[in-house]
This record gives sequence, C-alpha cells and structure tokens, in this order.
Amino acid sequence: MGDIIFWTLVRIAVTLPALWILKSYVDEKLWWIVGSAAIYVVIIHPAFVAYRKFEKKSKKVLDSTLCATCKHFDPSAVLCMKYDKHPTEDYIPCDGIHWEPK
Ligand code: SF4
Repeated sequence: MGDIIFWTLVRIAVTLPALWILKSYVDEKLWWIVGSAAIYVVIIHPAFVAYRKFEKKSKKVLDSTLCATCKHFDPSAVLCMKYDKHPTEDYIPCDGIHWEPK
C-alpha cells in the first residue's frame, strides 16, 4: 500500500508542474481538457489499477494464510505487526511460531 501512495505522490509531483508549464503554451480551454485527461491518465488510473492489484493479492493472503487469523496481523495493510513484514501465501514471517488467536 505504501508503494501505491509513494508512486502516486511521485506522479503528482511530476504531473502538476508539467501542467503548470504547459499552461503558458496552450489555450486555456484546451488546457483544462488536457490537464483533466493528464491527471486521470497519469495519476488516478495507475493508482486505481495498482490498488486493484493490491486488493487481489491481499485477498489471497486474507483468505488462505495462518496470519489472517493471528492477533498480530493488520488486515488493512496485510502486515504482521510483530515482525513488521508482509506475509504472503508462501511466506509466514514467524513460520507459525508466534501465532496467537485474535
Ligand atoms: S506473528 Fe506469525 S502468525 Fe502472527 S501475523 Fe506475524 S507472522 Fe503471522
């Protein structure tokens, strides 16, 4: 999830100054259309696609791992808070040793 936020902020940091510079070269009515399209294509759509991938990947972890039933697991971040690591379908950071029921 942090990756999605980071890269969205990077795209915002690049896109908004670029649009600001573009404003002086393009007609104002056209600039609004180009600006809106650029914000959607460069910022919103990639963030949405990345979030959908994260959600799909997270669902597998939430549905089928031991960590999903552990009190140290944060489902919103798909994170083991005890180890500060992200479990996957094939990787349980503690190998089940520190599992505790919720
Ligand atoms: S303590 Fe172990 S079982 Fe519990 S969430 Fe962390 S890695 Fe998973």
